[in-house]
Amino acid sequence: MHNYIQQYINGEWVDSTSTETIEVINPATEKVIGKISAGSKEDVDRAVEAARAAFPSFSRMDIEDRIKLLENIAKEYENRKDDLVKVITEELGSPITRSEQIQYEMGLQHFKKAAELLKTFEFTEQRGNTLIKKEAIGVAGLITPWNFPTNQPSTKLASAFAAGSTVVLKPAAMTPFAAIILAEIFDKAGLPKGVFNLVNGSGSTIGDAISSHPGIDFVSFTGSGPVGTKIMENAAQDIKKVSLELGGKSPLVILKDANVKDAARTAILNVAMNTGQVCTAATRTIIPKSMHDEFIEAVKEALPDFPVGDPQDKNTFMGPQVSKEQWETVQSYINKGTEEGATLVAGGPGKPDGLDKGYFSKITVFTNVKNDMTIAQEEIFGPVMSILTYETIDEAIEIANDTKYGLAGYVFGQNPDELFKVASNIRAGQITVNNPKTDFSAPFGGFKQSGIGREWGDYGIEEFLEPKAIIGMPS
Ligand code: NAD
Repeated sequence: MHNYIQQYINGEWVDSTSTETIEVINPATEKVIGKISAGSKEDVDRAVEAARAAFPSFSRMDIEDRIKLLENIAKEYENRKDDLVKVITEELGSPITRSEQIQYEMGLQHFKKAAELLKTFEFTEQRGNTLIKKEAIGVAGLITPWNFPTNQPSTKLASAFAAGSTVVLKPAAMTPFAAIILAEIFDKAGLPKGVFNLVNGSGSTIGDAISSHPGIDFVSFTGSGPVGTKIMENAAQDIKKVSLELGGKSPLVILKDANVKDAARTAILNVAMNTGQVCTAATRTIIPKSMHDEFIEAVKEALPDFPVGDPQDKNTFMGPQVSKEQWETVQSYINKGTEEGATLVAGGPGKPDGLDKGYFSKITVFTNVKNDMTIAQEEIFGPVMSILTYETIDEAIEIANDTKYGLAGYVFGQNPDELFKVASNIRAGQITVNNPKTDFSAPFGGFKQSGIGREWGDYGIEEFLEPKAIIGMPS
């Protein structure tokens, strides 16, 4: 049992002013695995006060020292590998191999990348007789979702520390334990007290207190659109900067010359990874009409290679949904797909055979999907693929862009001109061509209703900086 009912404020674990707690459930077993504090507005006040007090010296810390700090954090993070992998597997239900190769690894890479980028990052620029100086934005409030328990906080934290911002973090209440390990890592790595503050609790109390707090200068939020709207409304009251990383309904365009078997595997991988609980999931698979039957056969043939089941089993590809509510949401979308006339190819409602305990879904594939159907327009956050067909590349691009979202896009095939045409014309923040390796310095963020701002690498650091122009300063 993980019982962490204290908050990490000003470099120490302190009692919350609230005695209420929130239970954390392992979604694979449906058993309670621990609890956290429900937190209070007063906890946020104390955390903001600590972050404000730490800001003047931390924002002026030598870059060399900040690089060392980030390197120390990366080292301590590596020392806690086993604990992180174990806890993410338990709290999220992520299969243990994925917890190690993706969840753990992504969190680590953000700290390493920030340390590397700081070595050449230009904080000043001389333009004629104007000096442009980039200064840390102040105290940042970070609010993160449950789907990548270390990646989501780490991308924000690495950028904030690199820029010299101090922070108050509120992780998702369903997956809080990885962030508690992050607090222990920062403590061990020698982060000055008050630079990092962790306040656990519900979104409606702690998240709301952060986004409306006058002592916070910038809110960096990752989560759903409706909560993003609330955060903007709160932040508007005192003109706080906001960065929003929101949802997606990303297209995967398969070209005519693609290897059909490889394309089918790519499509399954990008829709079922992390049980479909990925903001960049490729949930609309857009294929040439002429490839349809062969593609469906290839998907059916490949599906057994993506086993669903116990996250502790090294061979499991897909674990459960994070919660009962999330499972019910996914089920309702699967039912809606059939009701609105899409054809079920694989999966469907209910739990996979033999998995009665735990919030397990089936990898579900629909074809004959029209882009105005609910399953083609709304973010499901579950392993549900919608197959749509096209006759010309222009039509494929039109379907790909027919969404309010613009977070990511994928294109798979061989012809370089067509790959480039599709990649250039999808209106989204990150386009992936033929399954490359993750680039941790590529900007990450959304067009349209997928968000405002960018994370990762130097673009992420820029979010935590304000440019100041000093004009006419004698040299
Ligand atoms: P969510 O919006 O419900 O919660 C996100 C965070 O906001 C949590 O910490 C939650 O406690 C907090 N919160 C809830 N209500 C709040 C309020 N009124 N004020 C302030 N904070 C509040 O999202 P979720 O269910 O945790 O995550 C799923 C969503 O996140 C999906 O829509 C997904 O697309 C999106 N997401 C986006 C990205 C991205 O980078 N673009 C990454 C991951 C997830």
